[in-house]
Amino acid sequence: MKCPNCHNKNLGKIGVNLYYCWDCFIELALIDGRLSLSQVEEDGSLTTLDDLFEEHELKTESGGF
Ligand SMILES: [Zn+2]
Repeated sequence: MKCPNCHNKNLGKIGVNLYYCWDCFIELALIDGRLSLSQVEEDGSLTTLDDLFEEHELKTESGGF
């Protein structure tokens, strides 16, 4: 699994279907085979980044995990 934002594989699992990119500091939630990306703000709140990506970029490739 690669980060759709920076395309690195430096992802850590932080929960059930929840990953974190250590390179660009975004949270990746896997929902129904589709990623939802969020940026963690300094105050701990989440800002969605989904509108920055095309649908095909957020679809996870089969067997990619
Ligand atoms: Zn990244």
